[in-house]
Amino acid sequence: MRGGRKAIGNLLVRPCGGMVDAIDSKSIVERRARSSRARGTNQAIAGPCGTVYPGGMKMIAAAATALLALAAPLHAQVAAEPVAQRIQADMPGLLAIYRDLHANPELSFQELRTARIMADAARQAGFAVTEKVGRTGVVAVLRNGAGPTVLIRTDMDALPVTEQTGLPFASKARGLSRAGVESGIMHACAHDTHMTAWIETARLLATRRGAWSGTLVMIAQPAEEIGEGARAMLADGLYTRFPKPDYVLAFHNSADLAAGVLGTTRGFAMANVDSVDVLVRGVGGHGAAPQTTKDPIVLASAIVMRLQTLVSRDQNPVDPAVVTVGSFQGGTTHNIIPAEVALQLTVRSYSDRTRTRLLDGIRRIASGEAIASGIAESAMPVVTVKPGYTRATWNTPDFTGRMTTLLRGHFGAARVVDLPPAMVGEDFGEYGRAAPDHIASLIFRVGGVPADRIAAAEREGRELPSLHSPTYAPQADAVIAAAAEALTVSAMDLLRRD
Ligand SMILES: [Zn+2]
Ligand SMILES: [Zn+2]
Repeated sequence: MRGGRKAIGNLLVRPCGGMVDAIDSKSIVERRARSSRARGTNQAIAGPCGTVYPGGMKMIAAAATALLALAAPLHAQVAAEPVAQRIQADMPGLLAIYRDLHANPELSFQELRTARIMADAARQAGFAVTEKVGRTGVVAVLRNGAGPTVLIRTDMDALPVTEQTGLPFASKARGLSRAGVESGIMHACAHDTHMTAWIETARLLATRRGAWSGTLVMIAQPAEEIGEGARAMLADGLYTRFPKPDYVLAFHNSADLAAGVLGTTRGFAMANVDSVDVLVRGVGGHGAAPQTTKDPIVLASAIVMRLQTLVSRDQNPVDPAVVTVGSFQGGTTHNIIPAEVALQLTVRSYSDRTRTRLLDGIRRIASGEAIASGIAESAMPVVTVKPGYTRATWNTPDFTGRMTTLLRGHFGAARVVDLPPAMVGEDFGEYGRAAPDHIASLIFRVGGVPADRIAAAEREGRELPSLHSPTYAPQADAVIAAAAEALTVSAMDLLRRD
C-alpha cells in the first residue's frame, strides 16, 4: 500500500509512539517460540499442518515436504474443528514462516525466494501451482466441484527501507531500489503478515474442501508497492489461463486499528494515485541582479501556493482530493538564481473525472503563473504525469455489505468496524476493474497495533509508526490469526454447498 497514514475517526485508533514488537504478544504460542529463541536453539518448530521451519532463517524444504506428507491424515481429522482453534494450534509454525519472510524481504519484481516459499506452501496444501505469472507471481488453483470461483490475493514485495525495529528477526537485507539507490530492505508494509495468513488460509480451505464447492484461486502478487504487479499478472493471462473469479478478496494490515480488529469500507476505499513532475524553467543569474533573470524559485513558489486552491477552492468539499508537493529542488548556493526548479507532486482522487480535473488544473496553474512571471512561450513549465498510475480501489458495495454482515456474525459486531475511505493507494482494485460488471471485489483491513499501545499513545500524545515506517512492527500473531479466519469463513460462505 502506498501513501500516508489516514484518519479513522475515533475507532480504536490513535497515533501512538513506541515501537511495536511482534514478540511482545502475551499469547502462549509466542512465549513458547520466544523461549526457544532464548535458549539459542535452532530446533525446528513444527506446526500441526506438518510444515517445519527451523528456528533459524533457512527453510528446509525436503523436511517440510516429508512431514507434510506424514501429516496428511491429520488434515482429515482437523477439518471439523473450529477455524480459530486450528489457527491457534498452527500459530508457532506460522510465526516461524512470518519471521523467515520478515528476515528475508525482497523488492518489487525481485520476489524470487518469497515466491518459491508461497508456491511450495500452496503445492503442499494440494493446489495446482503455476509460477512466474506476471514475472514473479504465483497462481494456485484448487478445483472442487461446481460453484463460483473465489480469488484470494496476497502481495509479496518489501520496501527500500532500512529496518529499525530492533526485532531479533529484523531484516539485514540490502539492495538497489528502482531509483538506483542502495538501501536496506524491509517488510515495512507488513506484506509478510499477508503472506503468512494466505498460506494458512490455503491450508484451512484445502482441509475443509468437503464443506464447500467451487473453485479457489489463490494468488501471490509481486510489485504492489510500485503499482505494477496486479496489471502484470492480468496481462500475463490471470483471467484467461486460469479460472476467472466471481469474487476477489484481500486484506491489508493496518497501523491504525487495534490488533485483530477488522475494518471494511463500502465503495471507494483507496484513491487514484498519480505522480506528477513539474519542471519550472527561468533565466538564471547573479543573486544581486534579479532584474537580469527570471527567477524560477519565486515562480515555483507561486505555483506551489496556487496549487493549494485546486483542492480548497475548485474541488467539491465532499469529494476528497489531495495535491501534495513532496519535493522542491532548485539552486546550488546563496547568491545564484538558478535556471530551473523541479517539483514532484502526488495527486490523489477517487473518480476519473476528479482526477482529470486535478491534472488539467496543475497544467493550467503552471502555465498561468509562468505567463504572469513573463516566461517566454518556449520556456513554459513542463508537466509530466507518470504513466501507469494506480487506480482507485472500489469495494463493491452490496458484496462488502454481505461480507461485513457475515464477519460481524462470526467475530461479533465490536470486532468489525466501518472505516472511512483513505487516500492511500493499492493496486488490488485492478482485479475487479478488469470486469466490473461480473466481479465483486473487497479488500478489508486487519488491525496490527496492540490496544494497550494505542491507549498509551493517546494518553501521552505520541504518534504511532505508520505503514512504511522503519519502526513499524505489527502484532503479527493477531493480524495473521484474524485475517486467516476472516478469509476462510468468507470463502466458505461464498462457496457454500446449497
Ligand atoms: Zn505499502
Ligand atoms: Zn502494503
